[in-house]
Amino acid sequence: MESQKKHPRIFSMEFFPPKSEEAEVNLRKTLTKLAPLKPRFCSVTFGAAGSTREKTFETVVEIQNSFGLEASPHISCIASTKASIREILHAYKDHGIRHIVALRGDLPSGMLSAGEFRYANELVEFIRQETGDHFHIEVAAYPEMHPQAPSLEADLRSFKRKVEAGADGAITQYFFNPEAYFRFIDDCEKLGIDLPIVPGIMPITNYSQISRFSELCGAEIPRWVRKRLEAFGDDRKSIRAFGLEVVSDLCRRLLEQGAPGLHFYTLNQAEAVLGIWKNLGIGLGD
Ligand SMILES: Cc1cc2nc3c(=O)[nH]c(=O)nc-3n(C[C@H](O)[C@H](O)[C@H](O)COP(=O)(O)OP(=O)(O)OC[C@H]3O[C@@H](n4cnc5c(N)ncnc54)[C@H](O)[C@@H]3O)c2cc1C
Repeated sequence: MESQKKHPRIFSMEFFPPKSEEAEVNLRKTLTKLAPLKPRFCSVTFGAAGSTREKTFETVVEIQNSFGLEASPHISCIASTKASIREILHAYKDHGIRHIVALRGDLPSGMLSAGEFRYANELVEFIRQETGDHFHIEVAAYPEMHPQAPSLEADLRSFKRKVEAGADGAITQYFFNPEAYFRFIDDCEKLGIDLPIVPGIMPITNYSQISRFSELCGAEIPRWVRKRLEAFGDDRKSIRAFGLEVVSDLCRRLLEQGAPGLHFYTLNQAEAVLGIWKNLGIGLGD
């Protein structure tokens, strides 16, 4: 973990663009509750093939202008053309955005062509070619391996390609086994990778939702956690209380061992993040 201890700690949060007026109101309420914590930046997801492109843009601008927080759009490149990515980059640049999360994304079902980018390292390279050092670029990392990777070694090599293409930092897929993260960092250190790799943190508030997400993204829910969550049945209050305890303990262990901050997948909800933040005693603007 030595490579990680040298980086200043950064606490950040992720949101998704709202799809209805009701969801917009909810996101504003959530941001009003979370903004006083002063996260270092707030990232906003981007639908595959640009399905939420305008909404991502609007949400980023609102976070920046109405809440005074640094906003960081995600850009996914699969099924996109270079011209469309160029246009997005310049629009963000014109709005004073300096921070980007660069991803490949997933091909929407029914779409067969990957477009002009096959992998995220090509997007990182393109952003550097087009905009030099204007953007601080984050990429995705997978301590439990990306579900489509043929092996851990191949996935690590892919991660290294993104770093070499010009990434400044990485945010991990969420996980509940801290050992997976510590081992991943060891493996990265062996390959000479020493950029900050911030753990992505998924609060546990809803068992069926977390089970579905984890199935899709390859995050393992430890058996003892799964069994307890199952035993709570429809008792949402107990699920939330147990989830808060488990995820706060995970965060504590990660920070104690030298993780350079935490990135919270808020799912546009404030309470779980507020609870974890309080349990960890994170200061405002840390
Ligand atoms: C922090 C974070 C935020 C995310 N935000 C979004 C979002 O906003 N929108 C969205 O649609 N998705 C998002 N995702 C999901 C992500 O798009 C998917 O996991 C996607 O399948 C992979 O994206 P990537 O950028 O990691 O791809 P890549 O790094 O390109 O990797 C994809 C796969 O290809 C392999 N690979 C990579 N490069 C090569 C190469 N040169 N040759 C052969 N194989 C290679 C990798 O090992 C991996 O299996 C996010 C994931 C994370 C962790």
